[in-house]
Amino acid sequence: ATEVGDALPHWEVAAYLVNPAQLTQAARIASLTLGLLITVLLLAIGVGSWLIVRSLNSELKLARQKTDFVSNVSHELKTPLTSIRMFSELLADGRVTDSGKQRSYLNIITAEAARLTRLINNVLDFSRMERGEKKYNFQSCDLEEVVRMTAETFRPHFQANGFKFECAVPEGKILVEGDCDALSQVIVNLLSNAEKYSIAPERRPPARRVDDGDSGHAGAETSAPAKDISVSLAQKSSPLSHAEIRVMDRGPGVPRGSGEKIFEKFYRAHDSLSNGIQGSGLGLTIARQIARAHGGDLVYEPREGGGSCFILRLPVSNTDEHR
Ligand code: ADP
Repeated sequence: ATEVGDALPHWEVAAYLVNPAQLTQAARIASLTLGLLITVLLLAIGVGSWLIVRSLNSELKLARQKTDFVSNVSHELKTPLTSIRMFSELLADGRVTDSGKQRSYLNIITAEAARLTRLINNVLDFSRMERGEKKYNFQSCDLEEVVRMTAETFRPHFQANGFKFECAVPEGKILVEGDCDALSQVIVNLLSNAEKYSIAPERRPPARRVDDGDSGHAGAETSAPAKDISVSLAQKSSPLSHAEIRVMDRGPGVPRGSGEKIFEKFYRAHDSLSNGIQGSGLGLTIARQIARAHGGDLVYEPREGGGSCFILRLPVSNTDEHR
């Protein structure tokens, strides 16, 4: 309130709040809203920064994996090429006259060429899958034949390298609607991994196995032979009718906590630097993608008594209706 001025002595103009409590309340609401907004803003900045750091980290990880992949693949190409060149030069020179040696050199050349083919097929398939261009030739496919034939192509090589190899397939057809070549490629990838990661008994961890599963088989692996690979096929009825292919080895198994990660692209649980086992980190990625494209799945579980067990499950087709 203030006096109007000399012209109107004793006159005052005044402004009074009708409800002063309302103003206090409005101020409180305004300050609360402002506080809330600032909190939300800070929270958004925090979450945003966390998301950016996370995505940067995963980009970095992928970039590192890609670099490793390039060096792994180059190395994987170089190693078989070097031995193919070396042994074919030896044979071409005519210096090796012993027929046993000649046969063994030829076997090495064949095995190394098969390794090259596997690697190149995997890389090509992977790039097709990444571009969404992978095509399957679905038809009625007899799994019994696919498993038996694929396993038999490995048998001579396994036996020559001191592996105990067992292939247990039931008599009679087990039909699935699928691409026989792609399914065979899954088994090829699993069998070549089984060989690669089966290490000699003296290099194996002495006590417990390192894997994903519950304990309960500790100690048993010490008595099991390390060079033991088996592949089996069976038809199961529960929960739904499906075929189950198991590829098992007595190697060190997949390290604890990596049972799912091993199916990610470029992921390698055993890196080449630390143990010298070469690989591209694509074999299982491709194998699982093929399994899923067939309506099935590929999973890992530790093998009873030590080692790895990869299970490929595929829905079986109705034998009367197959096309
Ligand atoms: P790689 O070319 O490295 O073998 P894969 O995709 O085939 O790529 O396998 C991914 C990783 O899974 C491997 O680097 C290895 O650490 C692990 N792995 C695959 N198969 C086996 C196995 N039979 N025993 C133990 N570890 C395995």
